[in-house]
Amino acid sequence: MAAPPRVFHEPAQLRAEIRRVQADGKRVGLVPTMGALHPGHLSLVAESQKSCDLTVVTIFVNPTQFAPGEDFAKYPRTLDADLELLSEFAPVWALVPEVDAMYPPGSTTEVKAPEIALPLEGIFRPIHFDGVATIVLKLFQVAPADAAFFGQKDYQQVRVIEEMVRDLIVPIEIVRCPIVREADGLAMSSRNRYLSPEEREIALSISRSLHDAVRQIESGEVNARLLRDEIEQALRGAGVGEIDYVSVACPRTLKSVETIEGDVVILVAAKVGTTRLIDNVLVSFPVSQ
Ligand code: AMP
Repeated sequence: MAAPPRVFHEPAQLRAEIRRVQADGKRVGLVPTMGALHPGHLSLVAESQKSCDLTVVTIFVNPTQFAPGEDFAKYPRTLDADLELLSEFAPVWALVPEVDAMYPPGSTTEVKAPEIALPLEGIFRPIHFDGVATIVLKLFQVAPADAAFFGQKDYQQVRVIEEMVRDLIVPIEIVRCPIVREADGLAMSSRNRYLSPEEREIALSISRSLHDAVRQIESGEVNARLLRDEIEQALRGAGVGEIDYVSVACPRTLKSVETIEGDVVILVAAKVGTTRLIDNVLVSFPVSQ
C-alpha cells in the first residue's frame, strides 16, 4: 500500500533507528542516490525489497564529487516528486541530509579511491571518485545497512565501491543491478532532462552503437580496436560533440583489450551539447549465437 516514506534529516537519528530494526532480526537495504529519481533508481529500490525488510534511500547531491565547472549548482533537485515516487515502495525510509550533516564543519578527512578509479572517468573527472568513495563510506556509517544496491549504469563507480569495501573491510554486501533503459534504448539518467528533443535523438546513438557492437561480438568479431573505431564513427556521424572515451575493457580491471577473448565491458562517455552522458554494456561469454 502506498505510504509516504519516513524522512530523516539527522544521520544519528537514522542510524539509531536502523540499529533498532536490525536488532529485531530484520535485514536493511541501502540505495544511495542524488535524487531526481527515475525508474533506474526505483529498480534498485525494488531489488532491495526482494531481499530486505526495510529499504533506506538516501537523497544527497554530494558536492565533493563535482569539480568546479561541473553541474553541481544546476543538478536537478526534485525532492517532493522523489518522495512521491518512493511512496509506492513502502516501507521505505529516506535520508535527506544537509551538507553540514555529511561534512561536519572543519572536516578534512577523505577517502582516496582505489586504483580502479584512475582510467576512464578518472582521466576526465580526476577528483570525482575520491568524492564518491568519501560520501559512500559516510553513508555506510550513517545507514549501517546489510546490503547496498548500485546500478551498473555507473560501471566504474560500482567497481570503485566494491574495491573500497574489500580494501577497508566494510561489513556490507554490494549488489549490482542492471541498467534500466527507455523503450528506445537510451540509458535512464537524471541528466537526460537537460537534453533538448534534438539532443535526445543524437544521444540515442550511444546506446545504439553499443548495441551494434554487441551484435558484432555475438557474430564472432574479436577485434576490439575495430569495434571502438566503429562506435566512434557512429557517434560522430550522429552529431555527438566531444567523445571522452570509448573503451573495450576487462570487466574486472577496466584495462582496455585489443582482442576479445573473454568477457568485456564496452564503456562510452561523451557530450551531447553541454550534457555529459555515460553508458556501457557488459558482454559475457558464451555469447548467444
Ligand atoms: P545517481 O543518483 O545518479 O547518483 O544514481 C544513484 C544510483 O542509481 C547509482 O547506483 C546509479 O548507478 C543508479 N542508476 C542511475 N541510473 C540508472 C539506470 N538507468 N539503471 C540502473 N541504475 C541506475
